[in-house]
Amino acid sequence: MRHENNAFPADTTLINLLALDEKEMGRLVQRFGWPRYRTGQILRWLYQRRAKDIHQMTDLSQGERTSLASITTISRATNCRVFSSIDHTRKLVLTLNDGLTVETVMIPDEGRLTLCVSTQVGCTLDCGFCLTGTMGLKRNLKPHEIMEQVLTAQDRLDSGERITSLVFMGMGEPLANMEALSEAIRRLTNKPWGLGWSPRRITVSTAGLAARLKDIAPFGVNVAISLNATTDNQRASLMPAVNGIAPLKTLLAACRRYPLSPTRRLTFEYVLLAGVNDRSDDARRLIKLVRGIACKINLIPFNEFPGNPYRRPSEYDISVFQSIVRQAGIDVFVRKSRGRDVLGACGQLGNLSPEYAERALTQIEARC
Ligand code: SAH
Repeated sequence: MRHENNAFPADTTLINLLALDEKEMGRLVQRFGWPRYRTGQILRWLYQRRAKDIHQMTDLSQGERTSLASITTISRATNCRVFSSIDHTRKLVLTLNDGLTVETVMIPDEGRLTLCVSTQVGCTLDCGFCLTGTMGLKRNLKPHEIMEQVLTAQDRLDSGERITSLVFMGMGEPLANMEALSEAIRRLTNKPWGLGWSPRRITVSTAGLAARLKDIAPFGVNVAISLNATTDNQRASLMPAVNGIAPLKTLLAACRRYPLSPTRRLTFEYVLLAGVNDRSDDARRLIKLVRGIACKINLIPFNEFPGNPYRRPSEYDISVFQSIVRQAGIDVFVRKSRGRDVLGACGQLGNLSPEYAERALTQIEARC
């Protein structure tokens, strides 16, 4: 049995149940000649009970479990390193089957816990303020590798914690891996056998792949657009690849066309870089750009990493920028930087070698 997405990697190896979507699971169940409801049972064991072993599936008969285990397995990540920040943010570094690593960040905050999930190893885009961009794209993650981040985070919750929201703001550009992203969202939101989350708990953040925005709309998740600049010149110098694909006019036109229900709004993210895009003129242009769009704005003060020329603006400059935007009647928030000491904050995910990371951490601490 072979399959193009490596769910059935080779004739001699076991099929990873987590790599199957609902249809493929249905075919497997059919192949065994089992009743159809077994499909939902197996999927529930995987996602709702996070089974790590087929023999845990006690609503299957002993014989069925043995048959299933003869050709399939539950292949979960075995290597997970955890970096804990003094602010209780935890960065999980998972090793994938091929040895590449992917990062996920757990961010607890006053009874809430946001999980920041990656969709690619590295990124094709080359945004000049983002560490992931410096790695280039290693590869897209598969749906089960996206889900693995969620399942592992759930395994590692402290007592009393629960994941209240999930943001696709980790490594990579989610809309450049649309197929795997869609399948992961289906598994997260499916009620009968998946995690059953409301799509409102999920946010997909894009650097601005305008043409793909409409493809995410049917899922009903929140959408965040990383605007980061207010003129094409400025945006092309900060985010050359993505602004080449969709300049500001195209991007904002796609945002205006985005089919929002009356109670929903888009989020614009805006990384604040000292002396680059944090002046009052920038704030005024930002107001004009988003005029007429149901939106809120999240300002993200730049998180530094070694070798990067940009700097974080002063608290004073951040608050001046925020008040100009707020005075125009726009909801505008400053994102708290979390997990900076473990390189777990926005834009700090990527493959720094441990020694380099250690030096990096000291350098950053010294500057704060
Ligand atoms: N590729 C997607 C998601 C990953 S980045 C996107 O661009 O939206 C998530 C957010 O972090 C984006 O808004 C991005 O602009 C921001 N970001 C990237 N590097 C940063 C840094 N060094 N400091 C602060 N924010 C950063």
